Amino acid sequence: MYLLDKGQKFLSYGKMIEAYDDMFMEMALEEARAARAAGEVPVGAVLACGSDILARAHNRPVVLSDPSAHAEILAIRAAAQARANYRLVGATLYVTLEPCIMCCGAIVQARIGRLVFGARDIKGGAVVSCYQLLNDEKLNHRVAVTEGVRQDACAEIMSGFFREKRITSALR
Ligand code: ZN
Repeated sequence: MYLLDKGQKFLSYGKMIEAYDDMFMEMALEEARAARAAGEVPVGAVLACGSDILARAHNRPVVLSDPSAHAEILAIRAAAQARANYRLVGATLYVTLEPCIMCCGAIVQARIGRLVFGARDIKGGAVVSCYQLLNDEKLNHRVAVTEGVRQDACAEIMSGFFREKRITSALR
């Protein structure tokens, strides 16, 4: 599949990757909005391999009474089951928020090759903010990381959610 720019020229490889990153992150944002609508912390994830979507999911710990039901874990489980393979070599994980310790663990276990995330999580992020688990010499798997894709939208959906929560709890 080739992508054309507005002048109908073929995009360079780098530009094509950027276009896919943007498209899949928009899909992850749709998932985050679905999480928000369900009263969950608004985080969404998409797992893709090239231009193929393997799975998409959003945060569901509250609904499922499951502390491990982060968007990334649900997407990884669904994709692994669909492929009937516990390794997702060659896959790229798109997520609106920087993954936590648990999700970084699952990314390493699944041997996911690339992670793209939108906003940093300064309180719990384990990729750059609090820990750097995906680039740790003690682990035998490295993950290529791109951050900041649709950063403003990804950060805004989080801050909006917690702002609303604070207002609602103040009114009680
Ligand atoms: Zn997580």
